[in-house]
Amino acid sequence: MKRIGAHVSAAGGVENAPLNAAAIGASAFALFTKNQRQWKAKPLTAKSIEAFQANCLAHGFLPGHILPHDSYLINLGHPESDGVAKSRAAFVDEMSRVAQLGLDRLNFHPGSHLKKMDEAACISRIAESINMALDQVEGVCAVIENTAGQGTNLGYRFEHLRDIIDKVHDKSRVGVCLDTCHAFTAGYDLRTKDLCDATFAHFEEVVGFSYLKGMHLNDAKPELGKRVDRHASLGDGKLGLEVFRYIMQDPRFEEIPMVLETPEDGIWREELDLLRSLC
Ligand SMILES: [Zn+2]
Ligand SMILES: [Zn+2]
Repeated sequence: MKRIGAHVSAAGGVENAPLNAAAIGASAFALFTKNQRQWKAKPLTAKSIEAFQANCLAHGFLPGHILPHDSYLINLGHPESDGVAKSRAAFVDEMSRVAQLGLDRLNFHPGSHLKKMDEAACISRIAESINMALDQVEGVCAVIENTAGQGTNLGYRFEHLRDIIDKVHDKSRVGVCLDTCHAFTAGYDLRTKDLCDATFAHFEEVVGFSYLKGMHLNDAKPELGKRVDRHASLGDGKLGLEVFRYIMQDPRFEEIPMVLETPEDGIWREELDLLRSLC
């Protein structure tokens, strides 16, 4: 079946995220396991971990339907040695938190070259960061998200995702998450069934659905190819509803967490109902 939800709040403790997801009728969810705008966080307590797992069990959320997202501060392709070292340490901490919660994947944006490194060197650096993290933390898959290509962010071409995966040693612990808004503003058109067929066939050819570990379901405020990262509520942006109908009807998207990161959290329940109505 299709597993849909939203990136819900974990305010007050990670154990609240499954409750917030259940409250909107979700069958999947995303969360930050720490404040996403700070480098440091207190370790998760045993009590919080236990409550998280109990709440997931009570509401039927399995690890494979939960997609933790790392901090926005982390840049695994940082061109400077201090910057990349700080990011790598924070990323290992994020991976450890995911493992402590009994979860199996961590979603992150690949990284930015900050105009101080060429794209190929930055991609190698990102892959090296992933290899280092996978060596230090067991059982968690590194899930690279495609980006809008805003600023100097890499990951806006499927080829970037492929090139990173190519350099990761343990292919069983690397995957990708596709964000529909990011794909569209990066220039991949998804506005009709034929365009979805073509874009996802291209994804299959370059990366492969075997690596797909999650989806971010967002409409887009910017026009096609603008390389600006601004999400819109479903049906309220330039992307429109066809891509969501396509995804909800296509078996290649079964049993992976597919989450809204749309701006109006007050209408998430209605957006999930809308997605289910598109089946
Ligand atoms: Zn996203
Ligand atoms: Zn975004």
